[in-house]
Amino acid sequence: MCGIVGYNGSRQAADILLDGLKKLEYRGYDSAGIAVFENGHIKVEKAKGRLANLEDRLVVSGTPLGHVGVGHTRWATHGEPSDINSHPHSHGRVTLVHNGIIENYLSLKRSREAMGNKFVSETDTEVIAHLIDYYYNGNPADAIIRAVGRIEGSYALGVLFEDIPDKLFAVRKDSPLIVGVGEGECFIASDVPAILAHTRQYYLIEQQELAVLSPEGVTLYDFGGNDITATKELLTADWDVEAAEKGGFPHFMLKEIHEQPSTLERAMMPHFVDGIENILREEIPDTSGIRRFVIVACGSAMNAGMLGKNAIEKLARIPVDVCIASEFRYANPILREGDVVIIISQSGETADSLAALRLAKAKGIPVYAIVNVVGSSIAREADNTIYIWAGPEIAVATTKAYSSQVAVLFTLALRLAYDRGTVPYERIVKIAEDMKKIPTLVSDLLSEERIAQYQHLASFNTNKHDFFIIGRGQDYAIGCEGSMKIKEVSYMHCEAYAAGELKHGTISLITEGVPCLAIATDRALVEKTVSNIKEVKARGGQVLYLCTEGLAKDHDFYDFLIELPEIDELLMPLLAIVPLQTYAYYTAVYRGCDVDKPRNLAKSVTVE
Ligand code: GLU
Repeated sequence: MCGIVGYNGSRQAADILLDGLKKLEYRGYDSAGIAVFENGHIKVEKAKGRLANLEDRLVVSGTPLGHVGVGHTRWATHGEPSDINSHPHSHGRVTLVHNGIIENYLSLKRSREAMGNKFVSETDTEVIAHLIDYYYNGNPADAIIRAVGRIEGSYALGVLFEDIPDKLFAVRKDSPLIVGVGEGECFIASDVPAILAHTRQYYLIEQQELAVLSPEGVTLYDFGGNDITATKELLTADWDVEAAEKGGFPHFMLKEIHEQPSTLERAMMPHFVDGIENILREEIPDTSGIRRFVIVACGSAMNAGMLGKNAIEKLARIPVDVCIASEFRYANPILREGDVVIIISQSGETADSLAALRLAKAKGIPVYAIVNVVGSSIAREADNTIYIWAGPEIAVATTKAYSSQVAVLFTLALRLAYDRGTVPYERIVKIAEDMKKIPTLVSDLLSEERIAQYQHLASFNTNKHDFFIIGRGQDYAIGCEGSMKIKEVSYMHCEAYAAGELKHGTISLITEGVPCLAIATDRALVEKTVSNIKEVKARGGQVLYLCTEGLAKDHDFYDFLIELPEIDELLMPLLAIVPLQTYAYYTAVYRGCDVDKPRNLAKSVTVE
């Protein structure tokens, strides 16, 4: 959450900063701001709301001209979204942008106030500017290091000093930060897409490292003041510029839904090239001592984890618990020898998931990570990392990263089943063969004809207040993700229920015309689900039935039907989620919602 950018080079900084912020707006859009050295002085421009508001303001006030600057797009944690709370924040000779949370900001603020300092904003961030200015006596590195030494919490900072107009400083703890290196110019950013148009070369900044960006280039120091640039690996981003653009689609979400045939291929297929016996062997050489998995994640990644549990338990007969990261970390979880914790995170920076990872490691428990962003904190700190290779996901509501997480979990389940011999080899081969069909089948589910069907359903229910999804087993898990998509992008109230649970309370909400989508891809449970659907129908509910081909035969209880091609039952969630994502997308569009930037949300949740 929150995006920071910075530039030092020969071009106009403001243009680069605004362009970078556009690429980072998915991380927060409560306000935006830039600070640029103009004629030797720092000029700050900021505005509440979307980046477009800042751009409008710059038309009136004039875009600052200069070659060094920082920018910020905010997801407010402390202080309402407002002009005054927008970043950059300044005090004395210091102006900075911040991503993260300063937990002890209040006591620090009180002590600065006691010294006579005046604060203008309600943010936790402002106190950092006060502290750095307080410690600054001509040595910027020393001032930053001393100031962050007093801070508890998380931060990525881009810092300018009024009397050092040719330099930009950056430092981080628990919030992401990269330093891009171009030809005669350098950048800081929270994420790779912000710099991709200018360079692919970048350094990952670690805790206790300070980056100094000057016209001569980047120098990295440890907190002892040693130049460590030569020891750091200069990485190359393999995401292409187009991957971070809409490519003709009206929204990133729709583009990312349509990318799924190729992202699913990338997530699964490379693991099969060396034969079934070597699936994920490189990432996870040995699975012999595992007695239990604990999957820890947040949001959609946790929904993916529920499908992982289903597949691993069914195929490999290894017990799996699924935990919400923000609960797990404070629950003093019982972890024993033989347990493996699996952390799932698109960004690899999710604050609660990262804390859960560290907790598990501190207890001596091995951690696997399933992550999209290469080199992210979770990817680096885990013992074994499996990348999903989904490319940049820009829409706040995840689609392709979720399906790729599920695909990787299925691949892992297959490997575990092979190692344990828990299912006949022929079934493993059959599942692997069916996995290879998935990209084509997903592509079929996104054909024009299919899309027209989802659009029709969405247009039909645009004005409904409530929406329910029911299913059993894996179908319930798919429903949880479907309901999340509908809620987050269309703001329609939507709940997923285990089909048998509905009558234990929620069925009281089913009245004439209330839509209820029933999912049935698990043949063993379909008749049970059908009974629950009939209970809904009997109360006047509108039934949408999403099922595997053939499972609607001899039934007339549904008002709308979406059939899915049949592959191995365990893999059906990878098909079933596609109509749900697309339905959620069109519902949001028809309700006039800002699909890629839903209210109050942001991607890459780097705060607790
Ligand atoms: N805590 C800072 C603020 O509210 C930064 C927020 C963030 O990084 O999401 O302004």
